[in-house]
Formats: sequence, structure tokens, C-alpha cells
Amino acid sequence: KIRTRFAPSPTGLLHIGNARAALFNYLYARHHGGEFLLRIEDTDRERSTQQAVDVLFDGLKWMGLDWDGEPVFQSTRQGRHAEVVQQLLQKGQAYRCYCTAEELTAMREKARAEKRPPRYDGTWRDRDPSEAPEGAPFTVRLKAPKDGETIIHDHVQGDVRVANSEMDDLIILRSDGTPTYLLAVVVDDHDMEISHVMRGDDHLTNTFRQAMIYRAMGWDLPEFAHLPLIHGPDGAKLSKRHGAQSVVDFREEGFLPEALNNYLLRLGWGHGDEEVLSREEQIKLFDFDGIGRSPSRMDYVKLNHLNGIWLRRADDARLTDLVLERLAQRDDLELNDAVRARVAALMPGLKERAKNMVELANNAAFAGLRLPLTFTPKAQKLLGEDGQAVLKGMEERLGALESFTPEAIDSTLRAYAQEHELKLGAVAQPLRAAMTGTTTSPGIDLTLAALGKDEVLARIRSALT
Ligand code: GLU
Repeated sequence: KIRTRFAPSPTGLLHIGNARAALFNYLYARHHGGEFLLRIEDTDRERSTQQAVDVLFDGLKWMGLDWDGEPVFQSTRQGRHAEVVQQLLQKGQAYRCYCTAEELTAMREKARAEKRPPRYDGTWRDRDPSEAPEGAPFTVRLKAPKDGETIIHDHVQGDVRVANSEMDDLIILRSDGTPTYLLAVVVDDHDMEISHVMRGDDHLTNTFRQAMIYRAMGWDLPEFAHLPLIHGPDGAKLSKRHGAQSVVDFREEGFLPEALNNYLLRLGWGHGDEEVLSREEQIKLFDFDGIGRSPSRMDYVKLNHLNGIWLRRADDARLTDLVLERLAQRDDLELNDAVRARVAALMPGLKERAKNMVELANNAAFAGLRLPLTFTPKAQKLLGEDGQAVLKGMEERLGALESFTPEAIDSTLRAYAQEHELKLGAVAQPLRAAMTGTTTSPGIDLTLAALGKDEVLARIRSALT
């Protein structure tokens, strides 16, 4: 049975590197008809506030990465972790280390002086624990193999190996009695029956150490896939100066979850030339063989492009909801059912033009403006003497229209333009200024029809001086 997991630490944000790991684990499980579990690694009790945990839940839900079963909170499993430490001690696979902080510092300094990597020298590995002072604090260390090598058959990196002589006896229980991160992950992955662990390749050294714990317990190792990290466009490690980094940032900047998902998937995974992939297609196609081996570079241009594509594909009613949610944060608007209906009517045209939700909301905002409008300088110019004449004429003609449809509006404008020997633009532009306070809007016929007769007349009157 395929079981994957996403095991984030609640740091207060969901980084896109982690979101991508979650996505890959999710897709792998779904592709193989397995399960995708969630484990919150909340052993750092100070950082792991409810708020930080909610950020993870919200981010995953927004991305549409629904997990199976209840999330496991690592902090609730300390008793079980300590139990495994006891078993390792009983099996003789672990031992108590009574080295003091001073002794460990001296060990590190000696190594530095001899230009060796700092490693625990094994002082208490074979020493009789009864030699320790009565009641002295101790840590528990794993008795790591000294010879041979540890090999990980990684689905992305291939066979990766390390000489055991290069690893020391890692601590599995701290002197305050709490289990270490490395131990907790192994016990939890084992107990949760995780078959495949997919995570960033910055965890590769941890994997070697974790493999030793599995062996010491006589447990089967899960399969591993270590994903290359995401770098900035310049090839340096992704950081704040490159731009948005967390899922919430991208959401705020107006990206749709399907665009971010699609982008993160393609960043480091490929299937032929396919660029735009729906969730169903992703699940159908995802497997290890498409994962690249080199770090991926963040490409904000491509992400924007995908966002435009997904925006045009998105359902109008949903986009209308999202736009109104954004507009609700502005205090210069009056939002009600009528405004909602206007935005919904304009959505097919609006979404063709916008690159992201921020633009879309801005372009739709005029639908909820209160009168009188404030005019941009350009719009103000359109409302001079000629503009006023057009508006007066339009007030009368549009007021007389029985059915306020785009077609009827269009003919009315054309007829008026012809009679007065004006270009259509000379009629449309003052109207546009009167409706939006600016010089841009979707087609004037659609704009007026969406606002409705009463509102159009009210806006015309309010623009007449
Ligand atoms: N809590 C770890 C992290 O956030 C997860 C490591 C793992 O997937 O095993 O990096």
C-alpha cells in the first residue's frame, strides 16, 4: 500500500518549497491509489502556536491538497518516542553518554585544531555506565556502525552513499529526556506505515542518520525521493529579495491556486511538452521518472503566464466571489447584490484582460463605486463642454430605452454618433468617464448593460455639471 506524508514544522508560513513537496507527495499517493497523510512536526513548542498550525492547514486547503485521516501531531507522541529509545538501549543499539558540555566543546576544538570534521569520539560507547557520577545527566546516543557504508536508493538522486566512518553516534534522546527530531521522524514514519518519503534534498544527510535508526530497530526503510531545491531566477537560494515565497504571499498577489499548483509541479517535474495541466491530468501523469535532478529556478514570468491561462479557464461565478472578497477590503465601495450582479455580468470580458486577481478586482471595482465619483485628470477632460453635450443627449436616449441590452445600447450610441457626425469614440469616452471615473472599462455597451438603466442614469446625472 502506497502511503506518503507531508511533515511540515509550523514556522508561521508555508514556503513554496514545502508546498511543492506536499504537492508531489499528494500526487504520488493519488496516482497510485494510496494515501496522503499529514504530520505536524510541532516539537518546538514555542514556535508551534495554533496560528502557525492554522497557516499550514489553510495553505494546504487553498492549494487543494486534501489529506487522508486526521493530522498527526508529533508532540503528542513523545511517550512512544521515548519507548523506542528504551528498546534501543535494551537491544544494546544505543547507550547513555555522560559527557559534559565542556567535554563536548573540548572534543570539537580538538577536531578543529587537527582539521578534522567535529565528531563525537565515542567516549561512552563502550565505557561502563557505572563509572558515571551518581545522578549525572546523560543523553542517549545511537551505536552507529563504524565500518562499511550506508546506501540510499533514491528515486531522484540514484544511489547515494556515505562511509559509516564519517558519521558519529547521533543523539536520540536529549539530557532533558526529550527525543530528538531524527528519532521522532523515524518512529512516526514507521508507525504511520509510510511507504515513500519525498522531501527536499537538504534532508539527505538526515536520511543517512535516519537509516541507521531504522536498521538498529530492525525496521524496513521506506523508499526515498529527495527533491532538488527551488532557487531564485539568478540561481541563488530562494530568498525574500527574489519576491514572494510563501503560499499566502502568492495568494495575496493575485495568483489562483491552480496556477500555483501547475507552476510548482512543472518546476522540477515534466511530462513531454505539457505545460498546462489540470489536477486530473497531474494525478494521471505524475510519477518519479519525471522529476528533474538539478535545482529548479523560479520563473515569475512563466508563473504569471500560467495564472492568466487559469484565470481565463476559471468559472465566472467563482471569480466573482473572489473579486467581491477582495473588494470588501476597500472602504470606498458599496457592495450589495446589485453590485455582485454587475460584476458577474462583466466577468467574461474582465477576465480576458486581467493577469491576476488583483488586476481583476481593480478593473471590476467601478461597479461598486459610490456617487459622486472622483475622476482621473484624463476622465475629467472628457467631461468638458463636448462631453457634457453627449451626456445630456445620452441621458435622454438611454432613458427612453425599453430593453437595456448591449445590442440596444450599441444601436442607440451609433445612431446618436451618426446624427451628430461624431465618431463612436467621442460618444463612448465621455460615457465611460461618467461610469468609471477613468478612461478604461470593458466594452461600453457591456458596461452600461451591466450597470443597469437606473445606475447608468444616476451616474450620468452625477457627472453633469
Ligand atoms: N519537518 C521537516 C521540515 O519541515 C520535514 C522533514 C521530512 O519531511 O522528513 O523540513
